[in-house]
Amino acid sequence: MKIFCIGRNYAEHAKELNNAIPTKPLIFMKPPTALLLDGKPMFYPDFTQNLHHELEIVLKISKNGKAIQPEFAHRYYENIALGIDFTARDIQDQLKAKGQPWELAKAFDNSAVLSDFRPLSNFDTAAIKFQLTKNGEAVQIGTTADLIFSFDTLVSYISQFFTLQQGDLIYTGTPAGVGPVKVGDILEGYLEGEKLLTCEIK
Ligand code: ZN
Repeated sequence: MKIFCIGRNYAEHAKELNNAIPTKPLIFMKPPTALLLDGKPMFYPDFTQNLHHELEIVLKISKNGKAIQPEFAHRYYENIALGIDFTARDIQDQLKAKGQPWELAKAFDNSAVLSDFRPLSNFDTAAIKFQLTKNGEAVQIGTTADLIFSFDTLVSYISQFFTLQQGDLIYTGTPAGVGPVKVGDILEGYLEGEKLLTCEIK
């Protein structure tokens, strides 16, 4: 099982971190050991002083495919979830400054929180609203209407390089409002008003 993540897929988020708007999807990966399931807490890693939340909509690939054309991409995913792409922002800033890969900042244990899945057919894919609260206060409010690269574009693009397999996950990027967490914080993710995800920082 592979976990793909998309960087800078919402313009307002790209701007808040002083990054240019990409012209092609920015892809990175996390290993399966990054998954944090079943509402388990996140233990603050000792290698970072600036752990950030990034709430994202996650696609689950439903059948194998490669070199998928955009017009057929919708046939390859049927369920979506919410996820948090935990990021050691201090380490990422150091790696970016040196032009080095991001794995140490992005792919560490428990860095990929994942909720239960819901059928995509329940939603209007073009405008799915989702939200993250921290200690009850809204910090990230997103809608797929603001995606730079659509779900279909992402599936098609990734499949030009990697064979997609049933069960692979795609974290589709975070809207603006990313920020630091501290021990004791409670993060809650809502998909169209339904609370799907809770993560306590311990
Ligand atoms: Zn992210």
